[in-house]
Amino acid sequence: MRLSRFHLATIKEVPADAEIASHKLMLRAGMLRKLAAGIYTWSPLGLRVLRKVEAVVREEMNRAGAIELLMPSVQPKELWDETGRWEKFGGQLLKIRDRKDAWYCYGPTHEEVITDFARTELKSYKQLPVNFYQIQTKFRDEIRPRFGVMRAREFLMKDAYSFHIDAASLDAEYRNMYDAYAPIFTRLGLAFRAVQADAGAIGGNASHEFQVLADSGEDAIAYSTESDYAANIEMAEALAPSAQRPAPSASLERVATPTQKTIDDVSAFLGVDPKQCIKTIVVRGREGLVALCVRGDHEVNEVKAAKLDELPGESALADEAAILAATGARPGSIGPVGLPESVPVIVDRSAAVLADFVCGGNQDGTHYRGANWDRDARVTRVADIRKIVEGDPSPDGRGTLKIARGIEVGHVFQLGQKYAEAMGASVLDDAGKAVVMQMGCYGIGVSRIVAAAIEQNNDAAGILWPEPMAPWKVAICPIAAHQNAAVREESERLHAELSAAGVDVLLDDRGLRPGPMFADMELIGIPHRVVISERGLAAGTFEYRKRSEPENRALSRAELLDALK
Ligand code: ATP
Ligand code: MG
Repeated sequence: MRLSRFHLATIKEVPADAEIASHKLMLRAGMLRKLAAGIYTWSPLGLRVLRKVEAVVREEMNRAGAIELLMPSVQPKELWDETGRWEKFGGQLLKIRDRKDAWYCYGPTHEEVITDFARTELKSYKQLPVNFYQIQTKFRDEIRPRFGVMRAREFLMKDAYSFHIDAASLDAEYRNMYDAYAPIFTRLGLAFRAVQADAGAIGGNASHEFQVLADSGEDAIAYSTESDYAANIEMAEALAPSAQRPAPSASLERVATPTQKTIDDVSAFLGVDPKQCIKTIVVRGREGLVALCVRGDHEVNEVKAAKLDELPGESALADEAAILAATGARPGSIGPVGLPESVPVIVDRSAAVLADFVCGGNQDGTHYRGANWDRDARVTRVADIRKIVEGDPSPDGRGTLKIARGIEVGHVFQLGQKYAEAMGASVLDDAGKAVVMQMGCYGIGVSRIVAAAIEQNNDAAGILWPEPMAPWKVAICPIAAHQNAAVREESERLHAELSAAGVDVLLDDRGLRPGPMFADMELIGIPHRVVISERGLAAGTFEYRKRSEPENRALSRAELLDALK
């Protein structure tokens, strides 16, 4: 490719509204142009990278036996009514109306459409298992689109959906997809971790996320120092402490804490370690209120709490008036001692082994000291309801947990029969009986991967593409070609030769001075650069530099071709 015939539009200034490296660099390299919030045009340069990611994903999906199809991005409301998601999906669903006033949505995901396809196409167990995938544009009306294509409203996803006669077959395909994902991210040069994820509102059984490790990541993941245990922080189990609860030794005493509401204030005021305090959060239960008690230095994990039987499937703070009516005090002075019988008290495992602790007095401006479970405060149930912290023991019993930030680039999920049941997708089994199919779904954020790769691979000069996703593998930079026919000819010759050998090569024939030319090639991250100059030609060498290495090397023609092919 000759750069003079391409459209490259790099910019020097750092864009004001870009916060993280990948977003800044994608804009500076001219890969993206913003059209509206979270909606971008991929420039010719950006598209070259996007297509390379797509190609790797497609190749590995095909290798794993999945079959490509393409579903529409506009989907009729009726399908979404069948699963109840027209209402339940929430604000992310972009609803649109056609000229006949019929409602549609722009697809944020394709479970409904694929299940509709499956229920008409699949009739017999003999057609199973089958895994259909597509690489297609999605739209989600994200509350806070940000970081460019990292969290966009319109983005490219690979989504696959598998269909099975039974759970064992689903398990096997889930494993197959899990195993296919690692080579995809490895080939793309990403440092990633597969982590156990929350199955969330979708229900289902197993679920793993593939997280690219990066400080700018929006997700927090917990991983073991000693084993390959890793989980989304929401999911990571906090084990029960091995120590037994000591017997009470202090008597219960009410103390005035006139202005102290937070654990930090109370513990400083009373001279007690936050680890000896109980933090009580009151949330809305299925009926009435529920008290959640964690140790003062811990936080309630809302995802874990939402799964408690006492809660309605979500964890929402109760309002102050309801708390005051039930407990006689406001948040800041609530504790487990003397709560009405109607309020279940769910105690975290670490909080349950405390004795002689400090907790709210259920009377504004007071706390208790010397409080003890059972003797003074009722325990409805002990459960794991807190967020893990660094240093907690790993749930698999090996090592301790550390926390890192990650960017979710893939997600595999066992859906079970949820969609097939709701939409009546069944096949006949070998006895001629209708069986509702089992389903799995498997997503990859194709456009997000481009940004994630830059987060992991950049320096002061610009992007360092992992080779399989670089827009070109080699840049040829002729120096003062307009004054020198030999430089021109040699550049053309090398360009032709590498192109013929199937190497993705870019000839920078724009006639720029070396400084700006090199700056552009470094900014857009071309992995290999060859400089052709009068001086080099006289010495019979080419100046070669790898983008990831600081030094130039003078190579003979044979050495150069060897290095590049
Ligand atoms: P997130 O928690 O980041 O919102 P999600 O759980 O909603 O992701 P899935 O529904 O599993 O995502 O979608 C599959 C993949 O699509 C994700 O793993 C992610 O890589 C990508 N993806 C999801 N939302 C976006 C978005 N707004 N912009 C870019 N990529 C996205
Ligand atoms: Mg999302």
